[in-house]
Amino acid sequence: MTNHLSTQAVHAGEDRPKPYGAVTTPIVQTSTYAFADTAEIMDFMRRKAAGAPQRDEYGRYSNPTQTAAERKIAALEGGEGALLFASGMAAITTTLLALLSPGDHLLLVEGCYRRTRDFATGFLRRWGVETTIVPVDQPAAWVEAIRPTSRVFLTESPTNPYLRVTDLARLVEVARPRGLVTVVDSTFATPVNQRPLEHGVDLVIHSATKYLGGHNDLLAGAVVGSHQALAGILEARGLLGGMSNPHDAYLLLRGLKTLDLRVRRQNENGQRVAGFLAGHPAIRRVYYPGLPSHPDHAVARRQMAGFGGVVSFEIDGDLERTARFIDRLRLPYIGPTLGGVESIVQQQAIFVSLDPAERQAAGLTDNLVRYALGIEDAADLIADLDQALAGI
Ligand SMILES: *Cc1c(COP(=O)(O)O)cnc(C)c1O
Repeated sequence: MTNHLSTQAVHAGEDRPKPYGAVTTPIVQTSTYAFADTAEIMDFMRRKAAGAPQRDEYGRYSNPTQTAAERKIAALEGGEGALLFASGMAAITTTLLALLSPGDHLLLVEGCYRRTRDFATGFLRRWGVETTIVPVDQPAAWVEAIRPTSRVFLTESPTNPYLRVTDLARLVEVARPRGLVTVVDSTFATPVNQRPLEHGVDLVIHSATKYLGGHNDLLAGAVVGSHQALAGILEARGLLGGMSNPHDAYLLLRGLKTLDLRVRRQNENGQRVAGFLAGHPAIRRVYYPGLPSHPDHAVARRQMAGFGGVVSFEIDGDLERTARFIDRLRLPYIGPTLGGVESIVQQQAIFVSLDPAERQAAGLTDNLVRYALGIEDAADLIADLDQALAGI
């Protein structure tokens, strides 16, 4: 019997009973683990050689607090296992370095996280890996871009800031018969809204810094999949060292327990705020997959249980008028990131560059706003937006 997601969020991955009868998983703040005697080390080495489950040895490889967080995330995504990392980027870079070799080719979806693209087209290129950026909604273009050397198809769904949604079933249909490993950065969706492994995707990646942690107080990343798909990435994590730490793992465990509650509220806030903005005369355009006007609305409805807490929109105005709007908002913080309980707003263009040409090259209009909704009451968020729009 598999429990529902909200029950898993509370209980999955947690030892029962725990040390000292504790209800919460303790922070095991240690870098290393001692052996009783030489015989125990020899037994450990034999088990390791046989690939049998192991005890903890050294903090770069595992930690009990971290293991509990990994088991919880694996359960939520419906994967055999999960690996925790120091950040979302540590998860992405370690995964790509583990899967790719010089001479290989990578397919990357258009509109993916900017640092992921920078890593592929800058760093990986220096190591002899070529990348082709493909459109999110054109499977024919994916097929055309695939080469005999193609190894990995990395997509993101929904993307940032336009919330484009990849048809995951189509992705698997195209990639699997051609021998590509499919990887989905599902940070914006969370397992509450979308479970890529159920569509046949090989690996799911999260910036756990965002919704999984959910409180703007930690950095972490995760990769989820079958033990077989994770084996090389586990090995690479031990070599590259992009491990998380016991304290952040504890905060993540704590955050995950309310994931379902938080994301449901954020879905509701997203839908209500998007609806309000779509009907406002000072708004030129709203990007939200839960609106019928979004180009991927049909795919999102098929594939997602909710449409998430990020709404992007264009103000009827220029860079300065948009900045005035942002500055008039009273509830959200101004800054990067998303997925926490606090609403955070960002004028995308300014965060990318102060040079208009660079902004245009990045495909970001000056009047674009990304609003990452928290768990506040939708009526208050809307009243705040209303007064800010009235003031410009
Ligand atoms: C933030 C983010 C990342 C990077 O994660 P960090 O935890 O900041 O390293 C990767 N992908 C997406 C979609 C993100 O939003």
